[in-house]
Amino acid sequence: MAIKTKNNEYWFYIDTDSLISVKEKAFVIYNSLNGKILEYYNQPEIFKILQELTLVDNLGVIKLTDKDLKNPIISGFCRDIRENHMGDLIDVLLSAGKPKQMIPKLSIMEGYETPSQKRQTRGNILEYLSRLTLYINDFCEETCHICNGAFKQFPCCTSQRGWHPQSKVHIINKFKHFPNLESSQKTKSSPLVVQSSQNTQLDFDQLKMFLDNLRCTSSWEININGGNIFKYSKFQELIAFLNSFKVNKSFTIHYRNAINHLEEIKQLNCEIHTLIILVHFPLQEPKLHLVIDYLKKEKFVMEYHFIIESETDFQMAEKLVQQYSLQSTQYHAFFNGENFSMFEENVYVGREDIIEAFPSLKEIYTRQFVNPTNFGSLIILPDGRVHANINDPQLGYIHQRSIYDLVYDEMVKGTSWRKPRKNVRPCNSCAFNKLCPPITNYNYVMGKGDLCHIKNECSP
Ligand code: SF4
Ligand code: SF4
Repeated sequence: MAIKTKNNEYWFYIDTDSLISVKEKAFVIYNSLNGKILEYYNQPEIFKILQELTLVDNLGVIKLTDKDLKNPIISGFCRDIRENHMGDLIDVLLSAGKPKQMIPKLSIMEGYETPSQKRQTRGNILEYLSRLTLYINDFCEETCHICNGAFKQFPCCTSQRGWHPQSKVHIINKFKHFPNLESSQKTKSSPLVVQSSQNTQLDFDQLKMFLDNLRCTSSWEININGGNIFKYSKFQELIAFLNSFKVNKSFTIHYRNAINHLEEIKQLNCEIHTLIILVHFPLQEPKLHLVIDYLKKEKFVMEYHFIIESETDFQMAEKLVQQYSLQSTQYHAFFNGENFSMFEENVYVGREDIIEAFPSLKEIYTRQFVNPTNFGSLIILPDGRVHANINDPQLGYIHQRSIYDLVYDEMVKGTSWRKPRKNVRPCNSCAFNKLCPPITNYNYVMGKGDLCHIKNECSP
């Protein structure tokens, strides 16, 4: 279809609801209103047009001439844009001057960069904290094979063998280097680091002092995890203290530990707070059945989180969900160093996943600056170490640094909250990096930024 024009100059614009992503030889345009994605490869004519459109001064509008539109590549491109409601051509005689568009700009981090601003914003900065996970201890008498690896991939209990910085346990050594573009920080040593042969638990007095500043805000939630949390020596005092904060709480307990503490679970007030029961395979079936049967009698807010390493695990989990009519469930894929095919089939991102996710412009712009998966989250380990992501370097210790300083540092120069996909290889050179979901712990653990089916297909 030829594009008919009366005059010989036209304003060509890309709508502000559409996003342009240009890399050297691949270009992607995404319509955030209808989810359509256009892709072009190795076409210098289109590259030049998109480059001009993205210049700040042009505000997404450039001039094209009849001569330009006689080029079939350019006219075909303009037709694609019009047919997918991403922009249009306007005869220049129809407008008094160059049309102007308001280009969105994210300002999430503005106002926090200088020391004086830091002091002024001290009260507000804690509003950015949304989730605190306390690994209150590392003691557990169970010996699950997932213990050293699962908690680095999703929220899961772990004994000291997993979290300790001197632990020599890695899922698979050749995947341990996450190819981040940013210079990697070394984990700082601390006099409080304990040997991995000891059991460790959070110092209750230090924790109380650390959390006291959070009384002024209620926008965060807290998760209590371990080890076997019931083995924390001051468990009752801890719960009483945490109950003095009017925030949502959740407790993460493996069913193998739950079976020995069913009466204590009843004291956790899980009619209001959330009880998360972890289940991994192979099952100790009689124990799990007893736990489910017992807890079903209570009016608890409950979630069952199944840890999945294979299709067989998934089928067994589904069977349990049906058998017990479990209402609230989550499935966490666990990378064990061998189950690549399960990840390729179920975790890797494809074009259809992006289309289905249908990200809004706000989500896309936010992801350019922060990692929403990590943003707002802090994890405290039994020795008092604080991480924004368990796979990133520590931020400090609760006895050394205030929660204000930790949240501030992570906001302004954070290694986890501010780790967007565009800073990770090979996504930094991929035109899809604005559309793909944020990096996750699977990227860290598998040492691979591109857990996707797209990169190879679209490589020129
Ligand atoms: S129950 Fe949790 S902490 Fe205990 S061994 Fe299993 S995974 Fe580790
Ligand atoms: S995950 Fe794949 S498609 Fe997405 S930005 Fe990275 S390389 Fe590109």
